[in-house]
Amino acid sequence: MKKLGFGLMRLPLTDVNDGKSIDIERVKVMADRYMEEGFTYFDTAAPYHGQQSEVAFREAVAKRYPRESYTVTDKFSMWMINEEMDMETFFNGQLERLGVDYVDIYLLHAMNRNRFEDAKKLGVFDFVNQKKAEGKIKHLGFSFHDTADALETILNEWPEAEYVQLQMNYLDWEDEKVQSRKCYELALAHDKQILVMEPVKGGALATVSPAVENLFKDYNPKASVASWAVRFVASLKNVVMVLSGMSDEAQMEDNLSYMKEFEPLNDEELAIVTKAAEMIRADIAIPCTACRYCVDDCPMQISIPEYFRIYNRLKQLQSTQLNDRRHEYARYAEGHGKASECIECGMCEGHCPQNIEIRKMLKDVASCLE
Ligand code: SF4
Ligand code: SF4
Repeated sequence: MKKLGFGLMRLPLTDVNDGKSIDIERVKVMADRYMEEGFTYFDTAAPYHGQQSEVAFREAVAKRYPRESYTVTDKFSMWMINEEMDMETFFNGQLERLGVDYVDIYLLHAMNRNRFEDAKKLGVFDFVNQKKAEGKIKHLGFSFHDTADALETILNEWPEAEYVQLQMNYLDWEDEKVQSRKCYELALAHDKQILVMEPVKGGALATVSPAVENLFKDYNPKASVASWAVRFVASLKNVVMVLSGMSDEAQMEDNLSYMKEFEPLNDEELAIVTKAAEMIRADIAIPCTACRYCVDDCPMQISIPEYFRIYNRLKQLQSTQLNDRRHEYARYAEGHGKASECIECGMCEGHCPQNIEIRKMLKDVASCLE
């Protein structure tokens, strides 16, 4: 299978403010181009676009392509299970929204040390094993956001997991919180099939400072900035799929162009990427990947990832675009809570896989952009 996966978590929208109104006709065009070039892997989850990502998959892929022509991965998002939504209801809802009878790969979503313990108590492993025995799941695994210690515990205690989905990119490779390299090496030592998420760090590695861009362009003027990030992780042993959350046709075409006949990074390219990581690390103010896990529980409906993206951009450009960024901020703030309206309840921070001090950072955003 070709190593570029179509991540359905940042799809094109008809209304950028609601996050759920997916432009299905554009997704169909993108899915067609993707399949036309021989790529076949789709990744979704119930929280993406408020369950509408799964529906978009059904409309753009499941209804239009034979079942055996694609692989679809969905996830068990444990935090959505409650009294009204038991495991069976949740899983059946997913199959219905996807428009399929079985899921190829089913991942326990965003596992960390605590969630793994909760999964044991809730009987999640018996449940997913049962679904596998019924043929409704072909392969099992988990996606992961925690330190390498926690990963080791899960790998030791759940050896049946076939796939591990890790946040890996050249910027997080040596990051103390994300521990990309350590997690990767552990998964490799356990001989897991590795799926990579956030190879471009939520888009942050697609738009870099002019100095970093020049570093890449001097070596290869034709290669996009994002291509360096995707090729970095795709070059690693046991990495079977690299997900890219593609939001438009141009991104799709760029990804297809270099992943169609994939070439691993050579030593010289690897040295350039390492240098770029050092330069970018010095620039990024808030390491938000725009996963949006923090937004649903916010009582003030604050557009946390959008505000962080605008703030990061401003910091990267060293304040040369302050007015533009303030206007952009004001547009996003229409119909949402402003950063200054945060009541510091802390509901968001427990959901953040990057351990960002959201309350503190929102204060900086407010003082800079309001
Ligand atoms: S701490 Fe602020 S941003 Fe976080 S959920 Fe509460 S109100 Fe929203
Ligand atoms: S603040 Fe954290 S949880 Fe919220 S979008 Fe960014 S990375 Fe995700």
